[in-house]
Amino acid sequence: MEPVEKVVKRKHGVREARLWEPLPNNRVKCNLCHRRCIIAENRYGVCGVRANYKGKLYTLVYGLLTAANVDPIEKKPLMHFYPGSSVLSISTAGCNFFCQFCQNWTISQIRYDSVYGNPATPEDVVKWALETDSDGISYTYNEPTVFFEFMYDTAKLAKKHGLFNTMVTNGYMTPEAVDELGPYMDAATVDFKGGGNKEFYRKFIFVPDPEKIFETLQAMKDKGWWIEITNLVVPKYGDKKEDIKKLARWIVENLGPETPLHLLRFHPDYKMIDVPPTPVEKLEELARVAEEEGLKHVYLGNVPGHPKEHTYCPRCGALLIKRYGFYILEYNITKDGRCPKCGYKVNIRGEFRGKKSSLHWYSMI
Ligand code: SF4
Repeated sequence: MEPVEKVVKRKHGVREARLWEPLPNNRVKCNLCHRRCIIAENRYGVCGVRANYKGKLYTLVYGLLTAANVDPIEKKPLMHFYPGSSVLSISTAGCNFFCQFCQNWTISQIRYDSVYGNPATPEDVVKWALETDSDGISYTYNEPTVFFEFMYDTAKLAKKHGLFNTMVTNGYMTPEAVDELGPYMDAATVDFKGGGNKEFYRKFIFVPDPEKIFETLQAMKDKGWWIEITNLVVPKYGDKKEDIKKLARWIVENLGPETPLHLLRFHPDYKMIDVPPTPVEKLEELARVAEEEGLKHVYLGNVPGHPKEHTYCPRCGALLIKRYGFYILEYNITKDGRCPKCGYKVNIRGEFRGKKSSLHWYSMI
């Protein structure tokens, strides 16, 4: 491995970090995620994309993009936020989690001197978003917490140009980081895995305390961000009914019963290729558990064609949005956001933007 000194002298990607404090003996404390690493001089944080050089903390992935694609917002998934809109989606390398089943492990599990990417500026990203007629920008694919500085600068600039900002996150960002990003971020998809079970997080993600995610969710709610929750259901290891029950209850009590919950089907990947895909019956069973706890919008993800991809009226059960995968086939909500049958006000933020084709996927880099 190259020494930190050599890495921080690279031409691209290196910037002084935000959200850190100096400690005696040239050590630093990073306050960006709940790991709150204390990093000695010439060492990396746990994420491997932040390093201490001469008593200052640096990010190593500023503007080093590993992807830039236009996606339908339903891919994040955000089903109740500007339905049918398209988002320019960007990522870098790195992550503060070590999910043994990560589907994007070729970018998320890159650390230390192996970080790579194509250099871009916030101005480039906003320009691409405008050129592609995107409605907003999404910070996604790898954990955006670890490219906080670039996300912050880009989101701030995007706002000035009338674009919205969304992030797809594991929820391990500190409340201070949420506070700093607060005015510029509009929506977050917060991804749980294995129902938020503590043993699951320790064994398969190497995260000591998933309870911290609830603090972050509270901070996001206080900032007024739109929130949707996902949970990856891993057969045998992370599919317990009692965990879904607990998670659903927390959502009902703290974010509200109409917060969308997406139960995602697991596919074998990375180091967990010996575990089969989640049986659809298991997802259906867990969806019932979440609904019994009071949640009104429970979706199944990665099961294209399933009736639980659609949005129904919580009061009369009318079909409001019919989808197939990430695409909207029918949009039956009135202009003032109500069920056309019974007049119920549906919990959706932003107007339908499905007039644009969400099929224009292309890559910038
Ligand atoms: S962002 Fe990285 S360096 Fe900072 S606390 Fe989290 S894992 Fe540690």
